Amino acid sequence: MKLVYTHENIAIASNVQSVLEAAGIETVLKNEFSGAGRGELGVFDTWPEVWVRSEAQYATAQQIVDSISELPEGGEWLCRNCGEENGAAFFTCWHCQSVKPEF
Ligand SMILES: [Zn+2]
Repeated sequence: MKLVYTHENIAIASNVQSVLEAAGIETVLKNEFSGAGRGELGVFDTWPEVWVRSEAQYATAQQIVDSISELPEGGEWLCRNCGEENGAAFFTCWHCQSVKPEF
């Protein structure tokens, strides 16, 4: 397995995982229950991690992650349920998991 993405916010990490899974890439989420939500800041080594199971799919997964993180400014959308700002690549609100509204 290879590590393809890590983020301090479990909701964002799992959203990236959802994007990869939707592209047919088998992934594993690690450190899902460590750090986050316990008021501990700066615990970099326990950030949630998204791992790709198959090395053959790693390059594709890396491209998808790159395309998510390289999106230009302004692609964010506001959640209609809770008002939270979300990255353009995300299908659901990282805060409340509401589905991205149609424009
Ligand atoms: Zn929301």
